[in-house]
Amino acid sequence: MKIRTGFVSNSSSSSFTCCISGEDYSGWDACLCDADMIECRNGHTMLTKYAKEFAKEKIKTKEDFLKYTDERDNDYYKDEIEDMIEDGEKWGGWHLQLLSYYQLVDDGEYDWPTDLCPVCQRTHILENDFLAYVIKKYDIDVDAIEKEMRDEIS
Ligand SMILES: [Zn+2]
Repeated sequence: MKIRTGFVSNSSSSSFTCCISGEDYSGWDACLCDADMIECRNGHTMLTKYAKEFAKEKIKTKEDFLKYTDERDNDYYKDEIEDMIEDGEKWGGWHLQLLSYYQLVDDGEYDWPTDLCPVCQRTHILENDFLAYVIKKYDIDVDAIEKEMRDEIS
């Protein structure tokens, strides 16, 4: 039988790991924004600095910005988006406006476009992807290597 002790609440612990740097963040009822992270549509969670750095090369104009926004959201968040466009026209930094946009709209922080994701675009290769590629490409016998490792350790 499970006995519940102590303080009862609806809070839950969340943790997020940046798939590029490996840095992690955890906290009660934390969201990606608390961790300063964003997730692409393929589930790559990363610190916003990596998304910004990558988007900087692709999002340079108002047209680029608008290409990645959604008409429905643009109606609902009209005032906020007008402010972003105004800031962009004044100061540039359209990629930063776009990040603000994805942090604003519903579930946007889990919806970063895949063509603005350094992992999806293979600018950054994940260790697991690298290993999977090497194993397949060079037809590596994983079982034999595992056995060899066990034998060497014991
Ligand atoms: Zn991705």
